[in-house]
Amino acid sequence: MTTLTNEDIWKGVLGEMEMSLSKASFVTWFKDTKIISKENGQVVISVPNGFVKEWIQNKFNKVIFQCLKQADNDIREINYVVGNPFVKTSDSKILTREIQLEQIQEINSDTDIDPKTNLNRKYTLDGFVVGPSNELAYAASMAVVKSLGKIYNPLFIYGGVGLGKTHLLQGIANKILKDNPDKKIIYLPAEKMVSELIEGIKNKTIEEVKTKYAQRDVLIVDDIQFLAAKETTQNIFFATFNNLYNRNKQIILSSDRPPKALSAIEERLKSRFEGGMIADINIPDYETRLAILKTKVKNKPISLPDEVLECIATNIQKNIRELEGALNRIIAVSDLTGREPTPKEVEKLLKAYVQASYRKTNAQAIVKVVCDFYGLTLNELLKKSRKTFLVKPRQIAMYLLREDTKASFPDIGSRLGGKDHSTVIHAYRKIVEEVENNENMKQEINLIRERIYNKA
Ligand code: ADP
Ligand code: MG
Repeated sequence: MTTLTNEDIWKGVLGEMEMSLSKASFVTWFKDTKIISKENGQVVISVPNGFVKEWIQNKFNKVIFQCLKQADNDIREINYVVGNPFVKTSDSKILTREIQLEQIQEINSDTDIDPKTNLNRKYTLDGFVVGPSNELAYAASMAVVKSLGKIYNPLFIYGGVGLGKTHLLQGIANKILKDNPDKKIIYLPAEKMVSELIEGIKNKTIEEVKTKYAQRDVLIVDDIQFLAAKETTQNIFFATFNNLYNRNKQIILSSDRPPKALSAIEERLKSRFEGGMIADINIPDYETRLAILKTKVKNKPISLPDEVLECIATNIQKNIRELEGALNRIIAVSDLTGREPTPKEVEKLLKAYVQASYRKTNAQAIVKVVCDFYGLTLNELLKKSRKTFLVKPRQIAMYLLREDTKASFPDIGSRLGGKDHSTVIHAYRKIVEEVENNENMKQEINLIRERIYNKA
């Protein structure tokens, strides 16, 4: 039995975390983390700042501990420290390890992103595997590439988390640029667009921001469900949309739900979205999943036998990001052990990640996820108490019930322990405001939503 280095161990933990989180959360919480020492059962993990420290401690400590313990059964305690790892350890080898770790992180990070365009070069239309679940969206994308601004405008693609929306959108952009490098394209996640607009308003540079968008041949906005409920940003977006649209410039949008279900978005915008082509992406069937795995494994330094890929495709069904995560994990394990895993071992490895089936959200699901997220029982959430640790989750539950199920305020009040509808309205407005003004709150709500939509 070879002993694992701290880097190996942490790589394993990161692998686990990457599988259970969205890319954005994974990067947010685990970028620049590392094990800086492991002695006498005590592991010290360095994190970049106090906010990350608190969050990891509260939300991920248990999972991290379990993962660490799998790698080294002697581990008893984890400490998180902020900042410079060098001063806190006497291990003289740490410097070289740091360098190795940087290299590992480099491989794992998105070095393929072009800083000029925000586009990841690895997302190509050629690399997009087409099957019954996504053929409509793919065909519409190809049509748009061939005649920009002419047939389907806007193109609106929607589907669940990890099903390939971002890949397709960026694939379109990469293809357009490849065929015609002079085209002016802008790709933006909606959250980025919103923050550019807010900054523009604040710094009185909003006209420049508007002009920047208006000068494009193609505007691509990803995850439009995050377009803030704020009137000003929607007004500007509406004006930008019309401006481009009227000059036959192509607009491409993605969302996790169809236009109709975008409750925070004004009717006039929704009907704009519905005026073009709407294509959905669904959960892929077995053949498509297998084909995707075969495509992904081609780019890896290791090959895996077909039975292993079949086993992954059988076990991971709902989310292509997880499918890829599982593949990466199995490759990492084969790499560490120096041999191919048997299908039995693969099955064991995957067991923990097998997702229960998707469900539509309903009030019950939202309330349950909120309770789980904050570690509360249902009774605690419903209690008539003004303690902050209860008030905040309750307000968030009210907010989510309103936003995502469109329940009426009185209904929400009665579901949450007989609260008055004015209490619910107050809570809803408060969270709406916080989501707009407080980055942490926004992150928190995103994480909760991910759990609601991504996991049963
Ligand atoms: P979404 O934006 O819908 O959450 P992504 O586009 O980020 O999902 O996809 C998650 C991962 O799955 C990406 O690494 C992407 O390359 C991969 N993926 C999704 N669909 C396909 C597909 N049809 N072919 C190949 N890879 C895919
Ligand atoms: Mg995406």
